[in-house]
Amino acid sequence: MGAPVDGERTDSSHHEVGVVVIGAGLSGVAAVIALRRAGFDDVVVLEKSGRLGGTWRDNTYPGCGCDVPSVLYEYSFAPHPWTRCYAGRPEILRYLETTAATHSVDKAIRYDTEVLAARWEPGTHRWSLRTTTGTCTARVVVVATGPWHRPRYPDIPGLDGFPGAVFHSARWDHDADLTGRRIAVVGTGASTVQFLPEIQPLASRIDVFQSTPQWVLPRPDYPLPQGLHRFLGRHPAARRALRGLHHWTQEAIGVPLRHPRLLRPLETAARLHLRTSVRDRALRRALTPRYRLGGRRLIASDAYYPALTRPNVRLHPTRVTAVEGSHVIGADGSRTPADVIVLATGYHIGELALAHGLYGTHGTPLADAWAGSRRAYLGTSVSGYPNLFLLVGPNLLTGTTAVPTVLEAQLRYVTAALTHLRASGYTALDVKPEVEAAHHQALHRALRTTVYNTTGGSSYYFGLPGVNTFCWPWSTRRLLRRLRAFMPEAYVWSRSPSEARLSDGGSGCG
Ligand SMILES: Cc1cc2nc3c(=O)[nH]c(=O)nc-3n(C[C@H](O)[C@H](O)[C@H](O)COP(=O)(O)OP(=O)(O)OC[C@H]3O[C@@H](n4cnc5c(N)ncnc54)[C@H](O)[C@@H]3O)c2cc1C
Repeated sequence: MGAPVDGERTDSSHHEVGVVVIGAGLSGVAAVIALRRAGFDDVVVLEKSGRLGGTWRDNTYPGCGCDVPSVLYEYSFAPHPWTRCYAGRPEILRYLETTAATHSVDKAIRYDTEVLAARWEPGTHRWSLRTTTGTCTARVVVVATGPWHRPRYPDIPGLDGFPGAVFHSARWDHDADLTGRRIAVVGTGASTVQFLPEIQPLASRIDVFQSTPQWVLPRPDYPLPQGLHRFLGRHPAARRALRGLHHWTQEAIGVPLRHPRLLRPLETAARLHLRTSVRDRALRRALTPRYRLGGRRLIASDAYYPALTRPNVRLHPTRVTAVEGSHVIGADGSRTPADVIVLATGYHIGELALAHGLYGTHGTPLADAWAGSRRAYLGTSVSGYPNLFLLVGPNLLTGTTAVPTVLEAQLRYVTAALTHLRASGYTALDVKPEVEAAHHQALHRALRTTVYNTTGGSSYYFGLPGVNTFCWPWSTRRLLRRLRAFMPEAYVWSRSPSEARLSDGGSGCG
């Protein structure tokens, strides 16, 4: 597991640490900083890749970037002079790396170390972890493996026999030369919206296969002058006001998503955006969704519709059913020749691959405990899995909330829980099953009347058949309020007979 850190037991391949954070993306980096600020210095991050950054390291497709205003896509403790209103992937990745270096987070990261399994040891109140490089034990585990981590590959008969390059948009093949080629794009989600305008000028022809049209809102993106940042740097109140303005705009858009009777004005704005961008009636019809706005993930772009109107781009409003030789076959019977196929078919959203190897108090893998649902109290604690916290866990996001906002609130909650644990003399906290169940029931009852649940369980938000595993049904404000108030009575507190207090001993967290 790499070099030992403070407090680790240093016998050959086994180490013990206070807190293990799994994953070094936006969440893992922030977790280390928050834990240290709360006095938990004995923290190690296990990262399976050789570089930090998660989403922003892995997704290198042309045009990849943020789809919320950058001022909301930053840590509140590390404001950044973004060059654009919606920053691109290289700038976000640089920001994460710089922030990690500034706060000495990189020193806590053990790279090329994938966590394969973690088992709760009831006798010692420790998590025992098995990784690709050895084993370790930890008193606390923070899972920061990311909800958008694994690309979803479609099952298209004949795809293996396609003679040209085939790749997923999330694993862009930069060796595939697109210049003057015929490119078939399968899928029209958020990634296609970003990369299509970038590759359109290169290709001789692009055929875009769309199974479901998206609602697309305008997104005015523009460079942010450095003078503005100098001003905001001198006036922190102005920066807070700018953040607040963007935050409340996002929140305002969230209101009709929770109360669909108020959706008409937003839908009208999106239709107007389509009408002013696309003159061709047939194309406009093909691009018009037949479900309510917000039923799938909301998309914002000023460049996507114009790219679809270019002479070398053709939209096929049909699913791809097969590939035969170098032809892509549509459900409408069309046969389209292609040199390159880009699979823009999204991610296994909210999937926690590690759930198959997380064994709780009863020795049950979390994947089994979660069969048919993904329950977590406030998206963070799972009953039967003590001293374990999920970052950006199930049902924490909405159609409009920026991940850093939720993440920082969760980290305040986690550090409050650990501070309580340290002070209490107990060695484990486990959310009460009835508290978790009541939260789960209330959440899914509230989701029923939102627009998120109106697409019949087939949408982005439904990580499991018929179960919305993604959305928080109330306002972000309510989420932040719930996460601000850590309630010890929601948890069972226990002490291991063989155990000293969390703060005692060199291997403790404190
Ligand atoms: C293309 C794209 C655009 C996005 N745009 C936005 C946006 O505009 N606004 C927004 O709020 N969100 C956006 N998101 C969501 C984005 O994923 C989150 O905002 C954020 O980056 C999640 O960070 P994370 O650290 O939780 O997860 P990740 O960034 O996925 O990082 C997880 C890390 O865990 C590591 N890991 C996984 N499994 C293991 C294991 N078993 N052992 C060790 N390490 C492991 C991975 O290698 C990775 O480094 C976007 C996502 C994508 C894919």
